[in-house]
Amino acid sequence: MHELSIAESIVSIAGRQANGRRVTKVHVKVGHLRQVVPSALSFSFGLVAEGTPVEAAELDLEEIPATGWCRECEVESRLGNFPLLCKTCGDSNLEILTGEELMVEYLEMEE
Ligand SMILES: [Zn+2]
Repeated sequence: MHELSIAESIVSIAGRQANGRRVTKVHVKVGHLRQVVPSALSFSFGLVAEGTPVEAAELDLEEIPATGWCRECEVESRLGNFPLLCKTCGDSNLEILTGEELMVEYLEMEE
C-alpha cells in the first residue's frame, strides 16, 4: 500500500514545519497520477500521525488533475488513467505538465 509511505512523508514534513506546535489541519496537494486512494491515505495518515504533533490534524486533500502536452499534435490535453494518451491523436508521446504533485501546501496550527 503506497499510501502508507506517502502518509509517512506528509507527517514528517508537517512535523518539521510545525516546530513543536500542534497541527490542526494539513492541506496536501496530490497529483492524479500519484494514484492515491483518498480513504487509504487518510487511514494511513491517522496511523502514522499517532504520537506526533500532527496527531489530531485533519488531512485536507486536494487532487490536481493530470494534464499533458502532446509532442505529436502539439495540443494540451487532460489525461485520464494509464496508459496516458493524447486525447486528440491517441499518441503516448506526452510531456506531463501536471498530475505528479505531492506536496504539503500549508498547515493550520494551534496558536
Ligand atoms: Zn496528440
